[in-house]
Amino acid sequence: MSVVGFDLGFQSCYVAVARAGGIETIANEYSDRCTPSFVSFGPRNRTIGAAAKSQVVTNYKNTIQGFKRFHGRAFTDPYVQAAKSNLVYDLAQMPNGATGIKVMYMEEDRVFSIEQVTGMLLTKLKETAESALKKPVVDCVISVPSYYTDAERRSVMDAAQIAGLNCLRLMNETTAVTLAYGIYKQDLPAPEEKPRIVVFVDLGHSGYQVSVCAFNKGKLKILATAFDSDLGGKDFDDILVNHFCEEFRQKYKLDVKSKPRALGRLYQECEKLKKLMSANSSDLPLNIECFMNDIDVSGKLNRGQFEEMCAGLLAKVEAPLRSVMEQAKLKKEDIYAVEIVGGASRIPAIKERVSKFFSKELSTTLNADEAVARGCALQCAILSPAFKVREFSITDVVPYSISLKWHSAAEEGQSDCEVFPKNHAAPFSKVLTFYRKEPFSLEGYYNSPKELPYPTATIGQFLVKNVIPQQSGESSKVKVKVRVNIHGVFSVSSASLVEVVKSTEGEEPMETDPITAKEEEVRHLYGCKITKTTSTEDSKEEKKNEPPQPKKAKVKTKTVELPIENSLHWQLSTDVLNGFVENEGKMIMQDKLEKERNDAKNNVEEYVYEMRDKLHGVLEKFVTEADRDTFSLKLEDTENWLYEDGEDQQKQVYIDKLSELKKMGQPICDRYMEAEERPRAFDELGRQIQQYMKIIECYKAKDEQYNHLDELEVTRVEKQVNDAMVWMNSKMNQQNSQDLTVDPVVKVAEIRGKAKELYSSCNPVVTKPKPKVESPQEEKAPTNGPVNGHDEPAPTEDKATPTGKGKETPENKLPQMDID
Ligand code: ATP
Ligand code: MG
Repeated sequence: MSVVGFDLGFQSCYVAVARAGGIETIANEYSDRCTPSFVSFGPRNRTIGAAAKSQVVTNYKNTIQGFKRFHGRAFTDPYVQAAKSNLVYDLAQMPNGATGIKVMYMEEDRVFSIEQVTGMLLTKLKETAESALKKPVVDCVISVPSYYTDAERRSVMDAAQIAGLNCLRLMNETTAVTLAYGIYKQDLPAPEEKPRIVVFVDLGHSGYQVSVCAFNKGKLKILATAFDSDLGGKDFDDILVNHFCEEFRQKYKLDVKSKPRALGRLYQECEKLKKLMSANSSDLPLNIECFMNDIDVSGKLNRGQFEEMCAGLLAKVEAPLRSVMEQAKLKKEDIYAVEIVGGASRIPAIKERVSKFFSKELSTTLNADEAVARGCALQCAILSPAFKVREFSITDVVPYSISLKWHSAAEEGQSDCEVFPKNHAAPFSKVLTFYRKEPFSLEGYYNSPKELPYPTATIGQFLVKNVIPQQSGESSKVKVKVRVNIHGVFSVSSASLVEVVKSTEGEEPMETDPITAKEEEVRHLYGCKITKTTSTEDSKEEKKNEPPQPKKAKVKTKTVELPIENSLHWQLSTDVLNGFVENEGKMIMQDKLEKERNDAKNNVEEYVYEMRDKLHGVLEKFVTEADRDTFSLKLEDTENWLYEDGEDQQKQVYIDKLSELKKMGQPICDRYMEAEERPRAFDELGRQIQQYMKIIECYKAKDEQYNHLDELEVTRVEKQVNDAMVWMNSKMNQQNSQDLTVDPVVKVAEIRGKAKELYSSCNPVVTKPKPKVESPQEEKAPTNGPVNGHDEPAPTEDKATPTGKGKETPENKLPQMDID
C-alpha cells in the first residue's frame, strides 16, 4: 500500500512519501523536488510538469497554468471571468456550465474540464511517486486551501479519481503544516495541561492562509482559520510586470501586453527579480535580450521601491492575522510561536509585518516549500494500516457556517437551522429529527455568503425519500444524519424513519426515543431538532451527551433506512466522471506510445552520432576503407532523413531503420569487442594450462603432495593440457596473421568454452583429496568444537534463541517509521 502526500500548489507541486526511514520529499525526473503545475498539449501528446513549463513561451496557447482556483466554479463566475482576461490560453464553458479550458490537442480543438486538467497533473505526480517507490501508487492524501468550499473540494476529489488515486483525505494546507510541525515535537503539554498555541502562516503563489492551532501531547486542534484568497506571490509579480510594461512603453515604445510571448518572458524575469530582491536590498537589474521587435530591454529596481509599489498588497497581511486571533479569542501573549511557510513568505516586508503584528520573532523551523506535502504524507501514514506511526489526533474546523433550510408544511413557509457554525470541529456528524408525512427536501447552504471567496452559497439539495405517515396517520419521526466528512465536505449522509410498531405496556422496547417537553419546544421553534451529536465519525457515541430521558410509556419501534437523492452544486455526474476516467486512461496510453515512438527515433539518432564518431575512432581498424565509406554515407543519409521524411514516422519505421544500420555496424562493433576481449581470454586459458602443467611436473617429480593421484588419470590430463596448448597456439598464430577487418578465426566465447572444458575434466583429477590417516580415537570433548576434522560444529537438537533477542513477530516486521 502506498503512503503518499501531494501538495497541489497553484504554481508548483510537491510529493512526499513515507518509507521505513521516515518522510521524504521526492524528486521528479529532472531531479527536482518541485514540479510546476503546468500541463501542455501538443499534436501527439501531453507534457506535464517541468517539460510543460518549458513550453510556456513557445506553445503558450496550449500550455495551461494557474488553474487551481477554477475548481468548482461556473464559467460565468466573476473570479473566472476576471482571470480569463489575463490568460494567454482560452477558457470555455463546459456543457454543465462549469469552467473548462480550450486547447489544440492531437491536432483537434478540445475542451477539458478543470477536473481533467488537475487529473493530468495528479497523473504526473502519481508517476513521480511510483518511480521513487517502485510500486503502484493509489492511496494518498491531497492538500487543498483551508478556504475551499464544498464544490471546490468535490471537484478536486473527482480529479483524484480521474488520475486513479484513492484520496484518503483532502487535507487543508495549513492543517498539513500543523501536523508536520506537531508530530515531531517531544515536549508538547500533557493532554490535561494548557495547550501550546501556535499560529501558522502560509503565503503561496495565489493565496494567503492563517490558522491557529492548539497542541497537546498526541493531538492537535485547529481553533480558527482566516485567509485572503487574493493575496499571493503572483500579485507581487503582477505589480512588477505592470511597472515594467509601463516603463518599456515609455522608454522603448513597446506594447508588451499585446504580445503573449514577450509578456510570458517578462513574468519570468520579474519573478526572478522579486526573489533576488528578497535577498538583496541594493539596485538590481532586469535585462531581456531581443525582447520584442529585436529590441533588448533593461530596467532596474530595488527593494525599497518594490515595497512602495506593493504597499497596497502589504497592507492586506494584517487582517487575517487579526481575524484568527479574534475568532479564537486569543491574546498575543497566548501565542507560543508563529511558524511561516509558503514561497512568498520569503518576502522580507511580509515577514516584518507578521512579526510586528505578534511582537514576536518568526519561527521558520519547517521547510517553507515542502511542509504541506510532508504533512499530507504523515496523514496518509496515520490513515494507512501499512505503517505504524505514533498516534496523533487531528481536529480541523468547518471554515464557513453551514445551515439547512426546508419547506415546512406546518408553518407554511421556509424554515432553517444552522447545523455547523464556523470553526465547529470537523470531521463531525449530527443527527436531526424531523416529523413528516411525506418525502421532503433539505437544502444545505453557507449562511454568511460575505465570508465566501465564492459567488454561490448553495451546497446542494438532499431529498429524503420514501417518507410515509405512521399507521395512525400521524407524522413519522425521521432522523437525518448530517456530517462534514474527513475531506471537509458537507452532506446529508443518511436518514431513517422510526416506525411505531405497537405499544405494549411492560414489554422491553426495541428502541425508545421519547420526545421530551424541551425537545417539543425546539421542534416548534425550528420545525426540526438537533437531538444528538457525535464527536467524530461514527454513531456509536451518539448518546454520550444526551440528558437523561424521563420515563414514558414504552413504545415498540422499528427503524427503516431511507434513500437520499443528492443534487450537489457543481457535482459531475457519475457518467461524465467515468467518461473522464476512461479518457485519461486513453491519454496516458497515447503519451506512452508517443514516448516509445520518440525513444525509437532518438535511438536512431544516437546510433548515427555514435557510429560516425567511432568509425573514425576506435572502430577504424576493424573496417575496410570501402566499407567505412559506404557505412558513413548510409549514416549521413539517415541523419538527413531524420530531419526530413523521417521527422515524423511510426515507431516501427525507426526500429526498422535502426536494425538496417546495425546490419552494417554490428559486425564492425563485434570485431572490435572481440579484439578487446580476446587477449584476456587467451591469457586466462594460458594461465590455466600453466597451472596444470606445473602440477603434472610435480607429480612426475614424486612430490608428496600429489603422490596419491592416479597415474592413468594424470596421463589423460597431460594429454588434454597439451592438446589445449596446441589449439591455443595455433589459433593465436592464425589470428595474428589475419587482418582485423575480417571476422576473427576464433571467438572469445570459444576460448572461454575451451577453458571451461579443460577445467571440468582436469580439475577433479588434480584436486582429489589425499586419503585421511585415522588417528587413535580421542575422548569426546564436552564442547561442540570441531571433531575429527569437521570444521563445523555438530548440529544440536536444541536451537535456543539467543537471550536478549526477542522473537520476530509479524508486527515488528512491519516497516516502522522513525518519527523521531
Ligand atoms: P498556493 O499555495 O497559492 O497554491 P504554491 O503552493 O504553488 O501556491 P508556493 O510554492 O508556496 O506557492 O510559493 C510560490 C510563490 O513564492 C511564487 O510567487 C514565488 O515567486 C514566491 N517565492 C519563492 N521564493 C521566493 C523568494 N525568495 N522571495 C520572494 N518570493 C518567493
Ligand atoms: Mg501552497
